[in-house]
Amino acid sequence: MTITVRKLLAIALLGASLAGCGSDPAPAPHEAAPSASAAAGAPKSPPTLAPGPGGITPVFERAPKNPQGEKVVALTFDADMTSDQGPRAAGGEHFDNPELIADLKRLKVPATVFMTGRWAKEYPAEARAIGTDPNFEIGNHSYSHYAFKADCYGLPVVEKNRRRADVEKAAAQFKKAGVQNAVPYFRFPGGCYDDEVLRTLAPLKMTAVQWDVVSGDAFAKDANAVAEQVLAGVQPGSLVVMHCTRSAAPVTDAAIQRIVPELRKRGYRFVKVSDLIRSATHH
Ligand SMILES: [Zn+2]
Repeated sequence: MTITVRKLLAIALLGASLAGCGSDPAPAPHEAAPSASAAAGAPKSPPTLAPGPGGITPVFERAPKNPQGEKVVALTFDADMTSDQGPRAAGGEHFDNPELIADLKRLKVPATVFMTGRWAKEYPAEARAIGTDPNFEIGNHSYSHYAFKADCYGLPVVEKNRRRADVEKAAAQFKKAGVQNAVPYFRFPGGCYDDEVLRTLAPLKMTAVQWDVVSGDAFAKDANAVAEQVLAGVQPGSLVVMHCTRSAAPVTDAAIQRIVPELRKRGYRFVKVSDLIRSATHH
């Protein structure tokens, strides 16, 4: 109940900047077989799922519990910045969170950062630092952080014929910043998608990545509450959504300080999304 109330509150508070980032998972993912590259076992290339029905973009939400009972969990951090937030950044608002990144490194927690292209444009040095660090991998969170489906928590909507270009524009921005560890994973702004947009993005051959654990860190003020919510939700194979922006998720770093040691105490190992997908497709 607490979780629901907090979630509703978070959604109510969400501005256009971060709307829906801590929202409910979207409808069930499509079942998909391992892709040819994953099956071939190339350990260094990030695995993707095989396309969904009719060739649409596959969706990954979490890894199934594996027979070995291995406890793995992937923490993901959305580096949100909407394409119209430049003036706010210029006015001193911090859409980045370098302390959080430093703490993840210090704690030796591998993580996947879903970055918007606009964020990489604003913080190219940080994008490059994350994007050249083996502790991290960078997934694509669109350029604009506009919604890819109508009625997504009040986010402005990308025009239908601009959706693919918006994803490609983010990838180009990562490249320009010097990112080397980009992975072919896409997180929909607000987590909102439908079959039509999965079809539209199919030529990009990416895997859409949702989550099964909502941290509730968007606009949270109580780090312990965020930590409790994550600790209550994580199961073996879970994928947690959090944020990497001081402006809209100010207690995430503090929450991490509790989450990491506690999950380790419970026997969990932190992995990137690519590791989670690899483990899921090898069973
Ligand atoms: Zn987001």
